[in-house]
Amino acid sequence: MPSSSNKPENDLYHKLKWLILFRVVFALLLLGSNITLQFSERPSSPAWSLQVFYGLVVAIFLLSFYYALILKHVKRKLLFAYIQIGTDTFVVTTILFITGSFASIFSFLYLVVIIYSSMLLFRRGSMVMAVLCSIQYGIMVDLEYFGIINPLYMKEGIVIGDYDWRHVFFKVMITMIACFAVAFLSGFLSEQLRRTRKKLLALEDRVDRVEKMAYMGEMAAGITHEIKNPLASLSGSIQILRKEIPYNPEHDKLMQIVLRETDRLSTLANNFLLFAKPPIGKIEKIELESTLTETIKLFEKGRADTTGVSIASELFSNVWIEMDPTHLRQVIWNLLLNAAEAVESGGLIRIKTYPLKHDYAGIEISDNGHGIKEESMQSIFDPFFTTKPSGTGLGLSIVHRILESYNTWLDVESKVDRGTKFTFKLKRIDPPT
Ligand code: ADP
Ligand code: MG
Repeated sequence: MPSSSNKPENDLYHKLKWLILFRVVFALLLLGSNITLQFSERPSSPAWSLQVFYGLVVAIFLLSFYYALILKHVKRKLLFAYIQIGTDTFVVTTILFITGSFASIFSFLYLVVIIYSSMLLFRRGSMVMAVLCSIQYGIMVDLEYFGIINPLYMKEGIVIGDYDWRHVFFKVMITMIACFAVAFLSGFLSEQLRRTRKKLLALEDRVDRVEKMAYMGEMAAGITHEIKNPLASLSGSIQILRKEIPYNPEHDKLMQIVLRETDRLSTLANNFLLFAKPPIGKIEKIELESTLTETIKLFEKGRADTTGVSIASELFSNVWIEMDPTHLRQVIWNLLLNAAEAVESGGLIRIKTYPLKHDYAGIEISDNGHGIKEESMQSIFDPFFTTKPSGTGLGLSIVHRILESYNTWLDVESKVDRGTKFTFKLKRIDPPT
């Protein structure tokens, strides 16, 4: 599974493996460089400084071996990483001490440690390492400056006492500032990288989900098709039976129930198909006013229970859009239906269109019905969410899906017992000549 290997714990595990390898390579390089130096005469190095040096290399090897051995079994990987990298800062200080402390050219190694600490431990870790490095460097140079310790010179010459204290102070400050600047920068970068990766993963998840939804939609659409055919023959057969057999009020009632329920089921199946697999639209240039007026008329005629409900329309004329007219009709129809179901008799539904900035047209359908409760608000677009005893909960999801395919969406405002207003906008086009 890709998602399991992307977990941060796992991520740290892989990085730690690389770090251990990197450390071994580093120790090898250190060893190699010293051997070459040995061959090109270095008489001034005292033998015991070499012993310390070899001891250090062996210690790094042993530590790496130990780390590699326990890496798999360590539960608290983050703490483990802190300990490893913290130890590295001490190793670097020792290298500096052997190679001349204040005079050593290896102080840049602190920066290397800080940079990879930011890759594993992010901003906080790199700051912690910068503090550790600064303290160690400061203490080492101070002790040397006051003659408490004597660095092991691999190289003859420079003695700290030769310098002015200001020069020493300056160099320590510069090193410390460099440590913090690098910690800040690399911490910042890795923090950003981490955030971007997180976003990417979330996006990947969403794409997965959408893919799965699409697949399920396909399947559900297939099944729904299979349900629709037997339903049609069922209701057809009952209708024939009803005509053929002698009238019996009891039986007639039962057959009516069958007819009513098959009708309901097939409406549900049709609606579900619209939602799960909306037909690909045939985009046409349409004029809003005439299309909406026609839809409103059909709606008023088609619904017996809209008596007592009046529809007031305020439509801008000569506004053109590009859309499949059946899509537009479906959207308006579903919104009108919900509005009509929300108002009692005597209620008022308003439908308005108006021009908007940037070549858009706004469409608004409002009612003075019972409104939507706060807690329902975030669910009304979910398929199958309904507050009605015989609702399907598909009306708004269909609207949402259709509008989505035109890169627009529904906005809703509602006050309980006062009414609801749905708005959306569509891109306007120039009237065809
Ligand atoms: P259905 O109409 O089958 O319930 P919809 O998806 O069309 O499904 O609507 C979902 C829910 O949103 C409704 O059950 C209702 O609670 C709420 N709703 C939608 N439109 C309105 C409206 N105009 N007024 C009040 N409630 C509404
Ligand atoms: Mg509805």
